[in-house]
Amino acid sequence: MSNVLDPKDWSAFRAFSHAALDDALDYLEGIRDRPVWREMPDDVQARLNEPLPVDPMPVEAVYRTFVESIFPYASGNLHPRFFGWVQGAGTPTGALADLLASTMNPNVGGRNHGAVFVERAVLRWFCELFGFSERASGVLTVGASAANLIAVLVARTRVLGVQVREQGITREGGRLIGYASSATHSCVRRAFEVSGLGSGSLRVLPTDSFHRVDPAAVARAIADDRAAGNRPFILVGNAGTVDVGAIDPLDELANLAQREGLWYHVDGALGAPAMLSASLAPRLRGIERADSIAFDFHKWLQVPYDAGALLVRDAELHRETFASSPSYLTRMPRGLASAQPWFTDFTIDLSRGFRALKIWFTMKEYGASGIGAAIEANVRQARQLGDLIDADPDFELLAPIGLNIVCFRYRRAGLDEEELDRFNDELVIALQESGEAVASSTTVGMHRAIRICIIKHRTTDADLVYTLETIKKLAHHTGTSKNPAV
Ligand SMILES: *Cc1c(COP(=O)(O)O)cnc(C)c1O
Repeated sequence: MSNVLDPKDWSAFRAFSHAALDDALDYLEGIRDRPVWREMPDDVQARLNEPLPVDPMPVEAVYRTFVESIFPYASGNLHPRFFGWVQGAGTPTGALADLLASTMNPNVGGRNHGAVFVERAVLRWFCELFGFSERASGVLTVGASAANLIAVLVARTRVLGVQVREQGITREGGRLIGYASSATHSCVRRAFEVSGLGSGSLRVLPTDSFHRVDPAAVARAIADDRAAGNRPFILVGNAGTVDVGAIDPLDELANLAQREGLWYHVDGALGAPAMLSASLAPRLRGIERADSIAFDFHKWLQVPYDAGALLVRDAELHRETFASSPSYLTRMPRGLASAQPWFTDFTIDLSRGFRALKIWFTMKEYGASGIGAAIEANVRQARQLGDLIDADPDFELLAPIGLNIVCFRYRRAGLDEEELDRFNDELVIALQESGEAVASSTTVGMHRAIRICIIKHRTTDADLVYTLETIKKLAHHTGTSKNPAV
């Protein structure tokens, strides 16, 4: 047997590939007619749990197993009625771009080749969108979790100097403290854990009735920390909180960070793409004053998983946080090892895929205006859904609608609060199991909520009406017992 892994018969492989691509396109074209989600049955799971395949198998046979045992059990986030968590749907073009990207299969850690220049181009587009200058730096990441971590590390370099890379974090000069609201995504806490700062160094501040942080409360916490000999260094604002889509007062936070000399980071994983809509952008005023912005392409920017980004106003600080120069990565004035700076100098990874291509395709095909219109439509739909819920005595809104997320619950007479919580959790599970729609659960204030995040370009107004009707039907079927089957 030859050790060359290319097809032995290219024309057969070509025919097979074309058929697979047709299956993929059929799948995408018919996505609305499929159940939103269905669980992978036990016997299928068991079939996948096989030993390492030692002997070769024709790719056609491997593909058959994929079609039977994997393809039907997607998580459902491409479907127009998938409203769970904050999950984008991508586009058929994005999927095609991913195929082309892995066909080129470049390592985008650095060097002098096309993919590097595409990544630079897409990052420049977003620097422009957020009002960052040509001198800013950026890097594509797995997602906003990684981007938020990198931001915390750059902020750490700013306050402790580049010697922190050698010395690690010392308590000299006081314990480093960061500030964020209680509505901040858990990955910011994790960034504090992973970076060695410790989550105890993140002050978690209360929010108002709109789930926004109160800058005066942050200012008081900073003053308290200074009085106690601690060293405030970073303030994190939210452009769209994960639970309810609230936008912190970003401009006021920028004033505060400036006055206090803190690094100002904005987590825009969910909401920063709203900058693409002329009517929504004013709500993010102040984001352009951030020292760094994390955001996601795989959510509202309609790009397939995975792709997030971090932009940093001070490129040199960003570079100093990660750059290294081992001999095997020597940079050269010409040739493939040129074209500095390299992306590996701005992130944790060396080897990196060509994430930029699916972003480049998406932004060029639909334009900022096309993506912006999809975002605007979702915000309108969220308000509309809120109105429907308000008008329906069976439902109760649990949070103001800041952007594209609607948190509510089903009200059933005769249940106490604890039973209502369980009932609504059960409704979310039943909805998922029905295959009709997917919502997720969260806690808002004191209550368990049904959470609907409208983030798909495919979602129609009728999808929302249908989803509410389905929830009602399920509520009736779930019975009136005080102990729904959980
Ligand atoms: C999704 C999300 C994150 C985490 O981003 P990933 O891309 O999932 O790593 C962080 N913050 C907010 C507000 C989010 O919505």
